[in-house]
Amino acid sequence: MKLPHRIKYTDKVRQGEARLFTISINPAKRGDIGLYTHEYEHIKQWYLCLVVGLACAVGFYLFTHNDIASLLIAAVSVSLKGILYSYVKPFRKWAEVKAFRAQIKVTEGEYVDFFANALANDYKLGITYNQAVKLLYR
Ligand SMILES: [Zn+2]
Repeated sequence: MKLPHRIKYTDKVRQGEARLFTISINPAKRGDIGLYTHEYEHIKQWYLCLVVGLACAVGFYLFTHNDIASLLIAAVSVSLKGILYSYVKPFRKWAEVKAFRAQIKVTEGEYVDFFANALANDYKLGITYNQAVKLLYR
């Protein structure tokens, strides 16, 4: 079962991207199951962060009965994945490795160089090509 999400085709993205519950795919990449799988993995990560954030909001409320602060935590949980992805390098590394591994699974090992190069160079992770290969194919 797929988690609810929407797909939009736009040339505003070079290949694909996932924000909140929306996957944006460049029309030239329509039908690229590997790219879709990569972006859908980010959708799953967004839901995970949302659930964790909402659980924290409920837990915070149960312990403090501070409704305003609890609502703020709940509101932030919608953007939690984006915040972590943008500012926490280990989270971004975890998210991309998971997404590329899912992509590799459906592309059956093709594009090894492309994925490793992308992971090493496009996400500001500070890792080499060889480190990327180890992360993706161990
Ligand atoms: Zn990604």
